[in-house]
Amino acid sequence: MTRPFDVAVLGGGVLGNFIAYHLARAGQRTCLLERGYTAGGTSGATHAWIYVSTKTPGHYGRFSYESSLLYERLEAEHGVDFQYERSGGLSILWTDEAVEAAHAMVAEQVAAGVACEVLTPEQTAAREPLLSPTHIKGAVYGPLDGCVNPFAVMYHMNALARSHGVDFRPYCEVTAVERDDDAFVVRTRGGVVRAAKVVLAGGVWTRDLARMLGFEAPIRPSRGQVLVSEPMPQMVEHIVANGSIRQLRERGVILFGRVMENDQTANLNTYDGLQAALRDVLRMAPGMGAVRVVRSYAGIRPKPFDDLPVLGEVPGQPGVFTAVTHSGVTLGPIIGLSLAELVTGRPTTYDLTHYGWDRVGATA
Ligand SMILES: Cc1cc2nc3c(=O)[nH]c(=O)nc-3n(C[C@H](O)[C@H](O)[C@H](O)COP(=O)(O)OP(=O)(O)OC[C@H]3O[C@@H](n4cnc5c(N)ncnc54)[C@H](O)[C@@H]3O)c2cc1C
Repeated sequence: MTRPFDVAVLGGGVLGNFIAYHLARAGQRTCLLERGYTAGGTSGATHAWIYVSTKTPGHYGRFSYESSLLYERLEAEHGVDFQYERSGGLSILWTDEAVEAAHAMVAEQVAAGVACEVLTPEQTAAREPLLSPTHIKGAVYGPLDGCVNPFAVMYHMNALARSHGVDFRPYCEVTAVERDDDAFVVRTRGGVVRAAKVVLAGGVWTRDLARMLGFEAPIRPSRGQVLVSEPMPQMVEHIVANGSIRQLRERGVILFGRVMENDQTANLNTYDGLQAALRDVLRMAPGMGAVRVVRSYAGIRPKPFDDLPVLGEVPGQPGVFTAVTHSGVTLGPIIGLSLAELVTGRPTTYDLTHYGWDRVGATA
């Protein structure tokens, strides 16, 4: 019988690739199992912002910011290009109450080391002329906010993981996970894999993987839908968070539409969803009416019960780790490193106090 892997990572999205890369760097014999190809799940159907300014509470903003710095470090270290742009982000405020709450949030974020500020309607429109100051009360501006090309991220991280020795197995759906005396037996459509530890990184499908081991992952699905424009002359400078508007620098294409449909698991676009998204966008940015939409896509977010990542070894399941979160593109680098540290029993570089399983039982 062949020697078991040290770790099998189940799911080859953005998190699985970062985790496998860091495990291999830490000297672990690692297998990465993916039922399709990398980017075939939610990581290929995302907005791919690296958004930090409104990630609350402060520790979570800081965690997101640290992750953004790791993107830059990886680019420099390996000479790869994730097409990372810190364009700055604007989160629109519609009411006086929202402005008041924004001041308190900004104070907390700044105290945590995450730069951001509250702008008046006029300051907002001056920064982003696409926005009309008429109906808004202001915005939170975050200079650290930006975005990547998720396909570039996954292409490079998968290549880096393989170059560090990861055994990547695409088109290898996991159908069962069982415990043997000294290893997990992972049954897949491409054969059996044995590993001393398993990391469940199946995005929203982590629920199915967890059930194979007899526990529930505390997440629910939330569908997003995104509209894609034809190439346009440069007309949007920032990420506009509320309508989820972002223009790709390279080709001028605008991605937009903020849709959050909880408990929807069907990966498809709907007329109602897209219409509602369009109405929101036109209310704050009438100039978007001139944009021609050429296609749309949908993706299913994994949404943890308290909106914070669920990372680490599962209570009562020795050797089983989860890495599941929304904002997985933002957090990929920091979760990859942190999971590798947890799996190998090393001290963690970043404070994971708020993201462990110990909080789950109490409130989930
Ligand atoms: C519309 C939309 C916009 C978003 N915008 C942002 C954003 O701006 N910034 C941000 O940070 N995040 C954003 N997100 C969220 C982000 O995309 C996700 O948090 C992230 O992609 C999750 O990555 P993952 O690796 O956990 O999951 P996935 O990318 O879904 O990867 C999981 C993988 O597991 C595989 N898998 C599942 N079951 C099995 C099995 N049985 N066997 C083998 N493989 C299996 C799947 O095929 C999949 O490839 C957005 C999401 C949506 C839908």
